[in-house]
Amino acid sequence: MERRRLLGSVVMLLVGVLPCTAQAADPGPAGESREPEFYVSAALRPAGMTAVHWTTGFWADRYALCRDTVVPEMKKALLAPENAASLANFRIGAGLEKGTHQGAFWGDGDCYKWIEAMAWLYAIDRDPALDREMDNWIALIAKTQAPDGYISTQIQLDSAKKRWQNLNHHELYNMGHLMTAASVHAQATGKQTFLGVARKVADYLDGVFSPRPPELAHMDFNPSHIMGLMDLYRVTGEARYLTLANVFVTMRGSRPVPPLPKRNLQAEPGDQTQDRVPLRRETAAVGHAVTGGYLYCGAADLVSETGEKALDEALVRIWNDMTQTKMYVTGGNGAIRQGVSIRNDPVHEAFGFAFDLPPRLGYNETCANIAAAMSGWRMLLLKGDPRYADVMERVLYNSMLSAMSLDGKSFCYCNPLERRRGVPLGHHDTEHRWVTHTCYCCPPSVARTLARLHTYAYSWSPDGGLWVNLYGGNTLDQPVPGGGRWRLTQTTDYPWAGSVQFEVLETPAKPVPLNLRIPAWAEGATIAVNGLAAETTARPGTYARLERTWKAGDTVTLTLPLDVQMLEADPLVAQAKGQAAVQRGPLVYCLESADLPEGLSINRVLLAREAKWTIDRQADLLGGVIVLKTEALALPDREPAAELYRRLTAGPLTPQPIQLIPYYAWNNRGSVDMSVWLPLR
Ligand SMILES: [Zn+2]
Repeated sequence: MERRRLLGSVVMLLVGVLPCTAQAADPGPAGESREPEFYVSAALRPAGMTAVHWTTGFWADRYALCRDTVVPEMKKALLAPENAASLANFRIGAGLEKGTHQGAFWGDGDCYKWIEAMAWLYAIDRDPALDREMDNWIALIAKTQAPDGYISTQIQLDSAKKRWQNLNHHELYNMGHLMTAASVHAQATGKQTFLGVARKVADYLDGVFSPRPPELAHMDFNPSHIMGLMDLYRVTGEARYLTLANVFVTMRGSRPVPPLPKRNLQAEPGDQTQDRVPLRRETAAVGHAVTGGYLYCGAADLVSETGEKALDEALVRIWNDMTQTKMYVTGGNGAIRQGVSIRNDPVHEAFGFAFDLPPRLGYNETCANIAAAMSGWRMLLLKGDPRYADVMERVLYNSMLSAMSLDGKSFCYCNPLERRRGVPLGHHDTEHRWVTHTCYCCPPSVARTLARLHTYAYSWSPDGGLWVNLYGGNTLDQPVPGGGRWRLTQTTDYPWAGSVQFEVLETPAKPVPLNLRIPAWAEGATIAVNGLAAETTARPGTYARLERTWKAGDTVTLTLPLDVQMLEADPLVAQAKGQAAVQRGPLVYCLESADLPEGLSINRVLLAREAKWTIDRQADLLGGVIVLKTEALALPDREPAAELYRRLTAGPLTPQPIQLIPYYAWNNRGSVDMSVWLPLR
């Protein structure tokens, strides 16, 4: 550890800012070997910030949408007086305007996420207008910051509030997102402006929290600051920030929580903030699904540097509980709006009980879904195990994209698996997506994820191997330690088509493995190298390893079979019993009433177990999708039930052609009914 710290500070002197959050260590002049300074306990290292460029296809289109529409439109929302996240607070904080704090306590953090998205975009596109936009807000943020490093406009602009009085004030959430955004900004621009603000924040937090004052033991609510400190550690090499991240992980559950009648739930929420049990002893995903997801992400960042076994084992236990008993087929995460935890603490926006996954009232906050993808990404790096990438991909294609309209201008907070018009919606669920909101955390979460998704596409390992995690048209140029670099192109129409072509342009001059992720659903995948069947097997749920001395012009073709698959849930999921969900490749599908003939209720549609499916590419539908068609069956038409229960309907089932659309594209054609799970006849 000491040697690494020393190396880190030497490198800091040499190059100023280390491109480490997302980049490989530079192999040095003339290919000189140098140990990577970060991710020292992880199996894999992330692709560099600018190593991957989307070129054509699904993710390239969404990256362009993020750059051209999502981020510029978001600025309008962040300036709208009714919105929960408000850039105006920094104008007031900097003394340019008079006024009081506007919006929600956590609004600063959501503004920082928007700046983070711009920084990721700037790293790729070098658009000077983005640089100026960031400089403008960073200057106001720097002026808002108190001389001792503290910054949180909801406290600073309200004379009635004091620091660290109430964990719901979200001070650490805001400062956490500042540290992450500043770390990305420093790497993208080479500027120290925002990084200087972030270092003052971290140094201030170090002074307040490193002594572990007992009165602040339950202070943090949504722990984005653990990730933020780890990002800052990887950019600055400052070991105190890693130590402080460990303090915050250890704080959770460090003080006994009194029994309920004697407890101030506002100050000591217990399971709601994962604060009842020390994380290292936890066995289940509990409480608020965003705070949980962010805690697990920050802890995974920590383990990837420290290799700590107890924390590592806890993260695997929690991951298994979350993904094998509490996650929706869409990757939706956090089933319930309001309820109690397994240890009987009141919780909201939270993980529910195992196997209790209501489709219509499924809460699935967008931020919680994305947090599961972020957690999957970190666990993938830590372990090199493709099951984490499978979950990450499931979220990204389904319950992340469903949060945004196809035009990139409006968003939703909840991502249910069923909608019935006329039936009351759960809290925060809305009939249509919106532009501004009283809780604006989700839109910038989508923006910053789309803006940096290319960095999830590849990773590399200390043996010089390259790991392909996500498929999509792109180019890669990634230096690896020991000398040399991986350069290649990837060409594919995935997820619509299953063929993925790679052309090798350059590799290290020695035998090195190219590892291709074979998703768990991809039975029968094949791989050819230079047109000949590869010797390696492409087993679902593994990385297929192709090791050889590569030469420029070598080609690799991966073929993933995209057959239509009908899924059933574990029998313990009562809400999905006797029903099927349909997926093709990574895309989960749904039935929308917009595709049913007038007068046919979605409630009458049954799927045949042996349904035969045809695929139909419709370039003009929903931005261009493949729909899945089959002959379903319709129950007899009946009047709506006047009573909750009635005699079972008799009568013949009639054939009914239907088509399903990708779940991510639902709710773009006016008010609709929708189902992911469809009953089987
Ligand atoms: Zn959110």
